[in-house]
Order: sequence, then structure tokens, then C-alpha cells
Amino acid sequence: MKIQITGLSDGIHRYQFAVNSAELTLGEDFEGNVAVEAVLDKSSTQILLTASISATARFTCDRCVSPFSQSLRSGYSMVYVSEGIETQHLDPAEVQVISAALHMIDIAEDVRQTVLLSVPLKVLCKETCKGLCPLCGTNLNEQTCTCSDTEIDSRWEELRKLQSN
Ligand SMILES: [Zn+2]
Ligand SMILES: [Zn+2]
Repeated sequence: MKIQITGLSDGIHRYQFAVNSAELTLGEDFEGNVAVEAVLDKSSTQILLTASISATARFTCDRCVSPFSQSLRSGYSMVYVSEGIETQHLDPAEVQVISAALHMIDIAEDVRQTVLLSVPLKVLCKETCKGLCPLCGTNLNEQTCTCSDTEIDSRWEELRKLQSN
């Protein structure tokens, strides 16, 4: 994911990348390609890069433990400034100082970190996931079970036994 900056004219430049998630060393939870759309806004002293990223990851549903894949969208901005330019007004996390001798910027590591940060801690296969029956483990998205009925029945049964004693 390298962008040549030598000889780049001032103004807006657009780039598209598609890199295999394994090549980007995102880990086994990712599959397919990571697609990046980068927009560069170059002026005489700086380059503003805005990247939109789309990746696909495999998850296990927190509720029904089914495996599923989901696309993750993320993005970031980065300002590349020439050496000697004042950067105090900028967020240090979004600034990289580049030397005049640098011909290429490589956005792979920034893309990688942005994708990893976009992974949610808790995931559901779908908003309406019904989860697993806590008693028999049936995936209630796929079929129903009769546990809730029998559970209540057996409690009444216990109560009846206590009363008759
Ligand atoms: Zn689920
Ligand atoms: Zn059940």
C-alpha cells in the first residue's frame, strides 16, 4: 500500500488498494481482502490523507456461539508534513513528519492498526439473536425447545411434593 509522493502535484489524488488480509498480517480472524480508498490532498507543506477501509472478519456470536462473517468499516486521517513545519496545532496521533528525501509513503501499518481497532468487543450474529437455551443448549434461532415449559412444570412438581410431605 505504497503511494508515490515525489512529483505529486498539489490537489486531490485518489487511490484504491485491495490487499489480502493475511498479507497485511491481520491474524486468522480475518478473511478475504482489505479494501482501502485513500484520498490525498496535497499542498506545498503537507499531505492530508483520508482512508476508508473495509475488511471482513470471522466472529463467534456472543449469544448463540455460531460462527459468522461480518464486514468491518473503519477509517482514519493522517497529515504528512515536511520537516521543519510547525505541527503543534495538530493531533500527534494524526501527524507524521516526512523528510524531503522520502519518495513513498506506505500506509499499510496505519491501515492494519485502524482495522484492528475497529473490531468490536461484543458481537451478535444479528440484532435479534435469540441465543441458546440455557438448559438444553438448543440454538433458539434454528428451532424451539420445550425446556421453559417443562422447567416450570418440574418446579410445580417439587412444590407439590413439599406440600404433600
Ligand atoms: Zn447469535
Ligand atoms: Zn431448551
